[in-house]
Amino acid sequence: MKLRTEFSLLSGALVMVVITGVSIMLFISQRRMLFDEMRANQENIIKGFVRVAEESLIAKNEIVLVNYLKFIKRAEGVIQAMLQDMNDKIMGHTDLTLFGNIYRDDAGEGAKESDGFLIQRRADGEGNDIYEVSMPVFISERKEAIARISFSCEVLDGKVEENLKKTRNHILFIAVISLFIGLLGSLVMARMMIRPINQLSYAVEQIGKGKLEYRINVKQTDELGKLEDEFNSMAHKLNELDEMKRDFVSSVTHELRSPMTSIRMYIGLLFKGAGGPLSPKQEDCLNVIKKSTSRLARFIDDLLDVAKIESGKMTIRKENFDILPTVKETIKLMKPQADAKKIKLTVEAIDNLPQIQADPERVNQIITNLLSNAIKFTRENGKVKVKITEVADNLEVRVIDNGAGIPKESLGEIFEKFAQVKGLRDTIPGQKGTGLGLPIVKSIVEAHGGKITVESEIEKGSAFIVFLPKK
Ligand code: ADP
Repeated sequence: MKLRTEFSLLSGALVMVVITGVSIMLFISQRRMLFDEMRANQENIIKGFVRVAEESLIAKNEIVLVNYLKFIKRAEGVIQAMLQDMNDKIMGHTDLTLFGNIYRDDAGEGAKESDGFLIQRRADGEGNDIYEVSMPVFISERKEAIARISFSCEVLDGKVEENLKKTRNHILFIAVISLFIGLLGSLVMARMMIRPINQLSYAVEQIGKGKLEYRINVKQTDELGKLEDEFNSMAHKLNELDEMKRDFVSSVTHELRSPMTSIRMYIGLLFKGAGGPLSPKQEDCLNVIKKSTSRLARFIDDLLDVAKIESGKMTIRKENFDILPTVKETIKLMKPQADAKKIKLTVEAIDNLPQIQADPERVNQIITNLLSNAIKFTRENGKVKVKITEVADNLEVRVIDNGAGIPKESLGEIFEKFAQVKGLRDTIPGQKGTGLGLPIVKSIVEAHGGKITVESEIEKGSAFIVFLPKK
């Protein structure tokens, strides 16, 4: 799973848990608040009733009590309210006709014993669920009467439920909006966090590919921005070091070239007898020196080519020419090498090959390098063939051998500088290489607007396929 998806899912889930938790807590506290409010309201009404009852009893004035009972009756959910003396005789009632009657409800007996505010949820004599709120009336510290008010549970609970329903809808609405904003926020945050990480990983990939001049466009000022800055400084330093290394290699190879040329020239002169006649032993030694010097000279040339390619100074002088004679010429030059290993070296081309527009010298370099590899990695009595055909706008030049082949996992690396397939050289005896041939070939082909690919199977052989644009 991508980091961005992981982060979004995680923060989204967190937002969801927080919002659900907060919503549940809000709902519970709102419920408690509504019940507390109801209870406080009931307490206020009964306290008012008790105060009026006290006044009425002291002043022996029933009118005040009757009026207050009328007021209580209008309060929400009230079924009845009454004032009873301690012998259950009704001294005041919301139903005026019950004055003076005896009223006894066993379930409500607890009110008589209580010295303060009491609230009970119970069934009344007619089987209705009620909240009975009661409070004693004290005159000169003597319990003279009990004030009772019955509220309908159905009405009051219904009211609480109705309020809760509204609250629930509000909470749900706010929760959905918050969830949406929260998820959107976490997505934006994930994007903000992941963008520099992606940039960094892309930049690391570019540096890994050798594009040392690649830099990140730093936009953030936070820790991630600082990391990108540090990365840029590191890439800058690497680039500087790489330039220093290139300059060093380039100047060293240049310096090596002139003495190498005179060594080769003097070897030639010695062979021609300029230092007197050579004994067979001296000739053998001179041959070894000549071989090694040629290898060294090739390595120096390759290094100079790489330096030219890397500094963009490789020159390509394109002209229209026929590739077949160039290939045949190269094959002729490579023949002694092939003969030494009894390798059959052939060329095959379609009739009427079109001309290509390329640098003949560089094309020669491509063919020489590929043929030299093909001969090098093919066993004695093997076959190497150059096959030239026309494919769309290109000429396709295949250098095919039935040699050692290249393992699949190495196919992607062989075009990189100094890359050599491990263990391959041990299986086929022959000259050691430098690992610079294929990168040079690739650069030359690409500088011509062409392409090079490879097909290979271990122990069956390889085919290097070069596409060069036609005239
Ligand atoms: P080298 O100087 O080592 O030949 P190259 O860049 O020309 O350097 O080739 C890189 C590596 O690719 C070689 O060392 C070898 O492992 C592999 N290679 C190239 N051509 C062939 C081939 N025709 N058959 C098998 N392996 C090859």
